[in-house]
Amino acid sequence: MKIAPGIHRIGDRSIVNSYLVEDAGQVTIIDAGVPGHYRDMPAELAAMGRTVADVRALLLTHGHTDHIGFAERLRRERQVPVSVHEADAALARGEVPNPAKGYGPTRLGPLLGFLWYTILRGGLRVPKLQEVATFGDGATLDVPGSPRVILTPGHTPGSAALHVPSLNALFVGDAFATYAVTTGAHGPQVAPFTADAAQAVASLARLEDVPADLALPGHGDPWTGGIQEAVRQVRQAAATRD
Ligand SMILES: [Zn+2]
Repeated sequence: MKIAPGIHRIGDRSIVNSYLVEDAGQVTIIDAGVPGHYRDMPAELAAMGRTVADVRALLLTHGHTDHIGFAERLRRERQVPVSVHEADAALARGEVPNPAKGYGPTRLGPLLGFLWYTILRGGLRVPKLQEVATFGDGATLDVPGSPRVILTPGHTPGSAALHVPSLNALFVGDAFATYAVTTGAHGPQVAPFTADAAQAVASLARLEDVPADLALPGHGDPWTGGIQEAVRQVRQAAATRD
């Protein structure tokens, strides 16, 4: 579905998000969702007037399986280069275990909904990346949209937000979520499956002053209430939970 000019999202639901970013007829994909999203990609590209031949790069906000879904397939079948922050490369390659500590608080209905959604789309058997390039904090990437990397460790060590100034958009990955797949709670909050919640909250200071009206998370709806307000709500929710 169309999110904003130049930005589409694969899938009509906002449980697991994969974004398509267009710049001068070329496309960067930000996060690869779950494997089943691959079959939805051609129709979404067509809605942008593009095809998979226009996809120049796939950027991963971090190395969790519900973000690398179709990455290996796109790399292997279409020779699209895949990149992730250097601190999450081993996770994306499946060489280290998920650093997340358990599920945190859960509510059965939303959790089952998330699991069912991912299982139906191949989420239990996500191919690890055989090859992944890396980027560092502060880099401006030479791909469509020219995203700038903002490292936000906590959710995982290599979690990174990607700022696309020309689209007025900040892709936050799981630096925060606007929907908790484990509890069904809506609104800006620390994402489920976060390795170090205190570090994740501290990292939000790196996002506060980013000039973008649109924050696009890995899970949940787009946030249009301003980055500073999102950060304030995440901090508040985290403080209430402690
Ligand atoms: Zn994650």
